[in-house]
Amino acid sequence: AERARLAASRGPGRTADGHPVKLLLNIGSAKDLRPGAEGVGLFRTEFLFLDRTGAPSFEEQVAAYAEVFEQAETVIVRTLDAGTDKPLPFLGLPAEPNPALGIRGLRVDRVLPDVLDTQLDAIAEAARATGTQAWVMAPMVTTVAEAGAFARRARERGIAKVGAMVEVPAAALRAGALLREVDFLSIGTNDLAQYTFAADRQHSELADLLDPRQPALLQLIGMCARAGREAGKPVGVCGEAAGDPLLAPLLAGLGVTSLSMAPVCVPAIREALAGLTLEECRRRAEEAVG
Ligand code: PEP
Ligand code: MG
Repeated sequence: AERARLAASRGPGRTADGHPVKLLLNIGSAKDLRPGAEGVGLFRTEFLFLDRTGAPSFEEQVAAYAEVFEQAETVIVRTLDAGTDKPLPFLGLPAEPNPALGIRGLRVDRVLPDVLDTQLDAIAEAARATGTQAWVMAPMVTTVAEAGAFARRARERGIAKVGAMVEVPAAALRAGALLREVDFLSIGTNDLAQYTFAADRQHSELADLLDPRQPALLQLIGMCARAGREAGKPVGVCGEAAGDPLLAPLLAGLGVTSLSMAPVCVPAIREALAGLTLEECRRRAEEAVG
């Protein structure tokens, strides 16, 4: 039993009956990398530039991305998620009355298309320079057309895998159609909860609405996972829910193929998955959705 416990304390994520669920890291820079996970599921690139007043150059971006690519197997780079809770002063975006519902994430591309072009060029160049396959995904994707346009621009540059984050209910409802445009989905439960329950993610009075155990949120996650299974494409979760040991088995039971979390959460999630069979995870998911 001790040997089984030790084996379960390292290696890939698996349920007790061996069903794989990839354990990935959420990072903001190379400094956050830790051993023990199977790659990076969310590289929040905006964290590199939060206090900048001038735009980061192409060369500076190549160096920052290459530093991560050199040290990790697979890395999913999220393009800049600026706006609302993460303003990027160098973009110089005007203040808005409803920033969470305004120009944020991929929507910045509507007003400043050069920013995404330069970032995609830099990601592609960093991948080439380090001999790795770059995976990229866009935050705040809302429509299938947005996902398709983003995928074309990434593929033009030879980026190997292109994904869309699911953070808006409209995207979850269209998961099957999104997966005809992109190679994978990554569910950002922090924002998906905010937009599903119309509750500011930083509002402590509304914490019960933002609880990812809410059946409506779990149902949306289940829809995405089902679409992924039908398309034969990965669908992961990279919001805080993925690092919660009570929720992780439930997410596996809903059918998600990877969980991406803060590095400190990895051991507890590995253990939580190893303690239950896939069938038990599915049962928990069914009970929670109700
Ligand atoms: C999310 O919204 O769940 C997510 C992972 O992105 P961020 O927390 O960076 O908005
Ligand atoms: Mg988000």
